[in-house]
Amino acid sequence: MPRLLIFTAKLGYQTRSFDEAAQKLGVDLVFVTDRCHQLDDPWGDRAIPVHFESPDAAAYAVLEAVRDQYQDIDGVLALGDRPAVAAAYAARGLGILYNHPAAVEACRSKLRMREVFREAGLRVPWFRALSLNPAPEPSLLGVSYPCVLKPLSLSASQGVVRANSREEFISASTRIRRLLESPEIRATREPHLDQILVEGYIPGREVAVEGLLTDGKLRVLAIFDKPDPLEGPYFEETIYVTPSRLADSQQREIERCAVDAVRALGLSQGPVHAEFRVNDDGVWPLEAAPRPIGGLCARALLFAPEATTQSIGLEELLLRHTLNLPGRDWPREQSASGVMMIPVPKSGVLEKIEGEAAARSLPGITSLEITARQRDYIAAWPEGSSYLGFLFAKGNTAEEVEQALRTAHAKLHFELTPRLPVEHPATRRLPAAGN
Ligand code: ADP
Repeated sequence: MPRLLIFTAKLGYQTRSFDEAAQKLGVDLVFVTDRCHQLDDPWGDRAIPVHFESPDAAAYAVLEAVRDQYQDIDGVLALGDRPAVAAAYAARGLGILYNHPAAVEACRSKLRMREVFREAGLRVPWFRALSLNPAPEPSLLGVSYPCVLKPLSLSASQGVVRANSREEFISASTRIRRLLESPEIRATREPHLDQILVEGYIPGREVAVEGLLTDGKLRVLAIFDKPDPLEGPYFEETIYVTPSRLADSQQREIERCAVDAVRALGLSQGPVHAEFRVNDDGVWPLEAAPRPIGGLCARALLFAPEATTQSIGLEELLLRHTLNLPGRDWPREQSASGVMMIPVPKSGVLEKIEGEAAARSLPGITSLEITARQRDYIAAWPEGSSYLGFLFAKGNTAEEVEQALRTAHAKLHFELTPRLPVEHPATRRLPAAGN
């Protein structure tokens, strides 16, 4: 039975899908995770506990566990940005084909990625890293507008803010500093939480590319259009639809840019998720990551050899690809497909959700998953990083899919009430502070 290590910081929909696909294919999966306290069957006795913030130590723990409990490992997969680094070190130790650790490390820093893209001659905006302490003064730093401020290593657009003026820059950098100093972010032990990257704003349409690398050769599985304007000031995702409605020539240009970006980074094996902006100057790589599209969104991708055959999900395709099994080269199914990451209209406690049944019953809608829990506090962007849920649609054309997602979203109503400010006894009698 072939055996595969899956490095993941999240245990949920995607790990369950991998488990199902593995059972079907007769593959033994071993999860490597820093969430062992959340484990329940069927993974409890088969997961290797690690700390992803020390990738070399995590890799060492994996090598020890493999030596003691498992004889052979046939492949390695990583499902997130943080686990990918540990996966790369472990794969080296196990002698398994995977991305080089230096390539994966480069993808962990938005600053390093810009440097790599610039050195490779790809389109990059002006950029520079700034310390947040003391607070940066943009007029002394050669900043021009509009620009984008972002943490060096967070993901899901968390803390990414556009600024059109000095005033907006100062309020954005203060806000990002507060976010990076919050206990939740400190607990991630990410490096460089006292710095941000500032770069020129790139206007244009945005697309996401899902790809698969084999010995450095990129196969594009799908180009997703993002039909909502992502112009800021915050950049939470909404709709992804494939196939792309961009001109064929532009899609080929995006594919070429994706090939150049992964080559520049030195990525060579396995799944790639990358983002690009397209405008009159050409294609601009925003970022590329050595992992598949996040969790639930993967459901928008199904693969089948022909229209009439049973399709398989991205997770099964990745297992087949990693283990070199037949079916690894199946194309995406014929129909247009899309997902909406349901945006958070404002921060607050989620009290009530209405319209779920009406949204689900619309033509074209294949599923609706509300992932936010009622009574939980949900932060809107830029502080937030998780969506209220996910809507999925299928159709004959991308237009139809986009329309179905918009109509279904319009049926949904989320009641979010502001969290009451916590009054500290020591400050109770003081006059209210000015802003
Ligand atoms: P993350 O890894 O957190 O998603 P990104 O750097 O990819 O961070 O930025 C998130 C989003 O912010 C992008 O998908 C894009 O919409 C927007 N964005 C980031 N940088 C720029 C830029 N220089 N110009 C225009 N939009 C940007």
